[in-house]
Amino acid sequence: MAQHFLMSAAARTVSLKQIARMTDGEARTLFRTIRWPETNGAAVCPHCECPVCYEYSSRNVFKCKACRRQFSETSGTLFAWRKLPIRDYLIAIAIFVNAVKGISALQLGRDLDVQYKTAYVMAHKLREAMASEMRGVVLGGQGRTAEVDGCYVGGHVRPENRKEDRKDRRLAENQTGTRRVVVAIRERNGRTLTQVFESEAASAGFIKARLDRSTILHADESSAWNPLHATFETKRINHQEAYSTEDACTNQAESFFSRLRRAEWGQHHRISGRYLARYAAEMAWREDRRRESNGEQFRSVVSGVLAPPSSGNRAERVSRIDWTGDRFVSALDLTLASEPVRVRRMEVITGDVGRRTWSPEEKERILAEAAVPGAVVSEVARRHGLRPQQVFGWRREARTASRAQEGMVFAPVVLDTMPSSAMPMPKEPPAIEVQIGDAMVRVPAGMDGATVRAVLRAVRASR
Ligand SMILES: [Zn+2]
Repeated sequence: MAQHFLMSAAARTVSLKQIARMTDGEARTLFRTIRWPETNGAAVCPHCECPVCYEYSSRNVFKCKACRRQFSETSGTLFAWRKLPIRDYLIAIAIFVNAVKGISALQLGRDLDVQYKTAYVMAHKLREAMASEMRGVVLGGQGRTAEVDGCYVGGHVRPENRKEDRKDRRLAENQTGTRRVVVAIRERNGRTLTQVFESEAASAGFIKARLDRSTILHADESSAWNPLHATFETKRINHQEAYSTEDACTNQAESFFSRLRRAEWGQHHRISGRYLARYAAEMAWREDRRRESNGEQFRSVVSGVLAPPSSGNRAERVSRIDWTGDRFVSALDLTLASEPVRVRRMEVITGDVGRRTWSPEEKERILAEAAVPGAVVSEVARRHGLRPQQVFGWRREARTASRAQEGMVFAPVVLDTMPSSAMPMPKEPPAIEVQIGDAMVRVPAGMDGATVRAVLRAVRASR
């Protein structure tokens, strides 16, 4: 009997040992060759696609010759703003692809010696990279066959301890309302596409949108699939009578659900409906690639992580993902969510446009708003979707620029309302004393006229 592929040496082409022994430089080189395969690892500017970039020798940062912007090998990717060394991410990806039934964040955290939250966010980024492969894909076609089926997950109601307190958990009023169904379209000798719905019947629109109309569709006896007859040549199998006949079967969809179920029970213990779409997409990816070597799977996840949004699909890509209370929000949620998603802060990178840029006029306007007496910089910043640090940075820039242009000097002015008798007398007696209202301005000898004029004007304005 021929050896099973997964038993063969050909199935093992990436080794955790090997990655763990890499130096940081080697890990970065591997990352670069996967990110920029067309230049064999030489940096290409993510902002303007210019292939001529300088590399700083002191830091791992590149600078584009054309647009002069700085970037790193992870800029504009899911791993932007990373804090761990690249090697650790490569180790995480190797562990993740080797876990055929999925891996829990706690387990990944123990393997990598990082906090649970770090591992959790990392695992979800990898799920997002996996799911991105199927974004917008339409399955099937002329002469192709696909199976469709649903698998209910979550919404478990714990039975009461005593028999007399137990309720009929089949009744709608005794259920939690959080039960969801994963609907899978599995093309024979093709890919698997999943989505989460409240019921199988709600998925008809999704199936019609993501499955070519010339496909032959196989489904089970559930009445939820009846509307599909109008669109597809549909064959039905009644599981009460048989699991498979010459005419129809949905065993490949069931087989996928079997793996999804094992991930749910065996690894995650419980998957909430909120995140179900991601876990389902992850398991679909694993299902479709189960006959590839782990090296191919590894490369595919790394390139999914590094892939810039393709120019054909200008889908917005969220690079910065943060916790909102107990929530972690990603682009995948925003495209898949059936419930509204609340986001506290998020940075969006759109296509090749890069980060948002502000014209000098806009900056000036915002700075003027922040300079109004009583204005609070953080509030002004929030109004414009900025971070306060950015406004402070611009203000610094503006000062430097105006100093360079006009030779203007900022002199610190301290206004003191103490009675003059209590003022400490400077060692050198002031050359000039000017009384403006109740303020006394003492100008030491040798101060230049322009500065004195500016100070006097400022003091007069503040009275
Ligand atoms: Zn550039």
